Order: sequence, then C-alpha cells, then structure tokens
Amino acid sequence: MTLTPQWLDELRSRTTLSALIGRSIKVTKAGREYKACCPFHNEKTPSFTINDEKGFYHCFGCSAHGDAIRWMTDQRGLSFMDAVKELAAQAGMEVPAPDPRAAKQAEQRAGLHDVMQAAQDWFAVQLNGIEGAAPAAIWNGAASMRKRLRISDLALRLIAAVRSEPL
Ligand SMILES: [Zn+2]
Repeated sequence: MTLTPQWLDELRSRTTLSALIGRSIKVTKAGREYKACCPFHNEKTPSFTINDEKGFYHCFGCSAHGDAIRWMTDQRGLSFMDAVKELAAQAGMEVPAPDPRAAKQAEQRAGLHDVMQAAQDWFAVQLNGIEGAAPAAIWNGAASMRKRLRISDLALRLIAAVRSEPL
C-alpha cells in the first residue's frame, strides 16, 4: 500500500472536518471555525475548535490536536489504514492498490538496515574479543554470517572496508 503525501492531502481536502466530527459530537459554528465540548477531556465550556480551512481540530484545554485521520484513529479507535479507507469511501476516492515495487523497495531497505546492524554488532563483538584473532577466523566468521543473512553486495563491501582497518 503506497499512500503518497499528495494523496493524503487530497483526502484531507475532500473531507469536511466539522461535518465528520459533527457526526460524533455536537458542534456549533463560531465565526470561521466550529466549537465543541472536547471529547478528549471533560469540560462544560467548549475549548475544542475545528478549522475546516486548515483541516485541523485543536483543544485549548487538553491540547488534543489532529486532522481527519487522527480524529478517526484517536476518537473512533480505528487503525490508520481503516481510517484512511473509511474517509476515502466518504470522499469518493479510491485507496491506491498495493504497489509491489514500492513494497519490495521498502522490504529491501528494512533488510539492508538489519544487515548493517548485524554487521556492526558482529564487529563490535570481534573487536572487544580476543586481541590478535587470526584474520582467517574473522573472514570465516564473515562468510558464515553472509550465508546466514544473505548479505547484499553493498553490505559486503562495507564489511570488506571495515576488515581492512587495523584492529
Ligand atoms: Zn480537550
């Protein structure tokens, strides 16, 4: 699932926040904004304001603050994706289909991060270990780690660079 910032902006701009919030609590127009008794803290005089132009709500009593999506997650208890889906349905927008390429890229980024961390941890252990460990042992260690983690070429180059540093 790839939701670009542009797509989310479009979703926000197509959502009338005061109408959305007005479905759950009583809101009253006050000038260019709307006011309500804050649903996030207990109060008798309204300090909760809704600005449709900016697409944000803000409470001057408890500092609750957010947009339409935040309202759905924080007040309605939905997950981010469920909030997006419901708002999109109301706004007549289609939620973008999963993008396999973007998913793969995200996966690779996450994988590479793990490899870097593993390499860093492993070298920290080696450097703190027995002094003068034979380079062959270190290389064998790297080889087995490479097998275990399927380290990418980039990570391998990094490891080679670290290996060439004097221990
Ligand atoms: Zn509040």
